[in-house]
Amino acid sequence: MNNKILIGIVIFLILVGGVYLFLQQNQLTQNTTKQTEQNNPSQQTSISTECTGEVIPSLTEGPYYTENTPQRTDIKDGAPGEPLTLTGFVYDENCKPIANAWIDFWQADGEGNYDNSGYRLRGHQYTDASGKYILQTVIPGEYPGRTPHIHLKIRASDNSPLTTSQLFLPEASGNESDSIFDERLIIAMQGKNTATYIFVIPTK
Ligand code: FE
Repeated sequence: MNNKILIGIVIFLILVGGVYLFLQQNQLTQNTTKQTEQNNPSQQTSISTECTGEVIPSLTEGPYYTENTPQRTDIKDGAPGEPLTLTGFVYDENCKPIANAWIDFWQADGEGNYDNSGYRLRGHQYTDASGKYILQTVIPGEYPGRTPHIHLKIRASDNSPLTTSQLFLPEASGNESDSIFDERLIIAMQGKNTATYIFVIPTK
């Protein structure tokens, strides 16, 4: 075979190979972008998952607070209800994370009942160095007169003001008719059993 024809064929094959590799790479980039969008459902909701700098509203304590709760992040103790993992961060008004912030959670079980003799679904914890907390619990049920909610007390440090408040579920049917409900305290669901909420609290 003529050498020139052979060189021509080799150059042609290298060009075709180059175009093929380029198209493959492009396809890969597009797929990665699509996956990132799918893995980030928070973009589809109006509930904030970032620090707003606005301190959370204080809400009523209600009749069922018990002091001296155990320190723990998993408060379920076998309580009936759909499991819920709630995570997030605690920030000050400048959106600086607060390490060692104290949070005391208490709530009704999935059937709307509080444990008023023991500590089931009650527990306090401290945020880690990055201001993060994690709560293993169940989705609270309704009880007469109230939309589902999770009670909490939160404080940046021993010398900081104590805030008492409540968290709510998105799209709970009782939200609109509950006079205590506040939409700024809705947790952002990130799946059936996981949610996030960002606390902004005063430090002094
Ligand atoms: Fe309550």
